Amino acid sequence: MPVSTKRDYYEVLGVQRGASPEEIKKAFRRLARQYHPDVNKEPDAENKFKEINEAYEVLSDSQKRAVYDRFGHNMPGTGGVGVDPFGAGVDPFSTIFETFFGGVGGRSRGGPIRGADLRYAMPLSFEEAVFGTEKEIEYRRLETCTACQGSGAEPGTEPTRCPRCSGSGEIRQRIAPFNMVTVTTCDMCGGSGVVIPIPCRTCSGEGRIRQSRKIKVRVPAGVDADSQIRISGEGDAGPRGGPYGNLYVTLDIQPHPYFVRENNNVVMELRLNVAQATLGDEVSVPTLEGEEKLRIPPGTQTGQVFRLRNKGVPFLRQNGRGDQVVVARVVVPTKLTDQQRKLFQELAKTMDPESVSEDRDDSFFGRLKDALGI
Ligand SMILES: [Zn+2]
Ligand SMILES: [Zn+2]
Repeated sequence: MPVSTKRDYYEVLGVQRGASPEEIKKAFRRLARQYHPDVNKEPDAENKFKEINEAYEVLSDSQKRAVYDRFGHNMPGTGGVGVDPFGAGVDPFSTIFETFFGGVGGRSRGGPIRGADLRYAMPLSFEEAVFGTEKEIEYRRLETCTACQGSGAEPGTEPTRCPRCSGSGEIRQRIAPFNMVTVTTCDMCGGSGVVIPIPCRTCSGEGRIRQSRKIKVRVPAGVDADSQIRISGEGDAGPRGGPYGNLYVTLDIQPHPYFVRENNNVVMELRLNVAQATLGDEVSVPTLEGEEKLRIPPGTQTGQVFRLRNKGVPFLRQNGRGDQVVVARVVVPTKLTDQQRKLFQELAKTMDPESVSEDRDDSFFGRLKDALGI
């Protein structure tokens, strides 16, 4: 087995072999900050940075660390020198940003800053929300300037180390009489540690340009007014070539002429005249996919509920859909023809007013609540 010429990972991080995870993390953070290529412009910084990152990859993972402690760089079953024993084909830069700049601890000075998230309110019809759609939207966002790749420096020139703070981004001052040290952000470079001698003409040195952008947004079936669609990387570009933020599409759903949505059910009111409610009928009701026949049994009451199974809204990113809930409402006539009046009068003679209250089984509200599952 060939012998590795790689430096010992503990040595790379400058910690003892028995170092605690906390000590390893601390050492890593300190070194990564020191050698980050965005901060450290020495020619060797990038390689150092990669080495530090690789060492941390292994030593921060208790399993990998145990294997490394046992075998060192000469891992069993690998080709030896030059082969990453862990198969970690990870881009060290993305790893470090996740571990450290993306974390709660804030970002390091001079490191890439992610662009702002943007919001877009998309108008949708009731049906589009139910069945899903794809729509093209147009909005404005900050994009990385292509002329200077976001650096802000005129093509052919380079950003240089800030002369006032020597690239640290901060100014330390001792103040008499107590010899106190104050640290302030460098006002020449704004804390970035670099200055741009000749600003890019395309973006005036900002590194970003506000531009109009068109993208297609797929709206999945079953979204509702609370849904939000996240589109990664479609927000503003970060300053100085930093990564893009996200675009959040919120939905502005139009009301429907017949239907009200209750989660995945659609609720509609079905108006019946006294004869239909009393004698029963077969009626045609609108559904989300055209008209459908519905049988109304004799003696239907206001508030009585009929369910059309699987005629509601599809479940978001799941199989199946809700129901259409049809709530009957018996409409008492207010205008009668002479003939109708006569017939009602005839009818009235046959009916005992006392009997009305007898056959109530449950209340209107009770039934409505059952129907809506609330
Ligand atoms: Zn530019
Ligand atoms: Zn400065």
